[in-house]
Amino acid sequence: MAELTPEEFLDTVLVPEKSSDHICWNCRGLKPVLKDSKFPPADIIGWCTKIHWPHYWCVADFNVVKKCYAFEQRKKG
Ligand code: SF4
Repeated sequence: MAELTPEEFLDTVLVPEKSSDHICWNCRGLKPVLKDSKFPPADIIGWCTKIHWPHYWCVADFNVVKKCYAFEQRKKG
């Protein structure tokens, strides 16, 4: 069985509620709203932990982020 990186393992247990065209999905800064979560507002895909650090910024699903100066590619493999 292939070994997973820590990020790959988290992807198997922390399943996002939504999908969209945001570049954020491939960024290490995004903490997505998790599947079946009832707490967060319905109009966000998750939170950015980078651009307003140490605060989180709500990433709205209707305002699709296509480019971002703080984008950091998630590591693979
Ligand atoms: S740093 Fe930019 S690309 Fe990454 S999650 Fe935040 S807003 Fe999205």
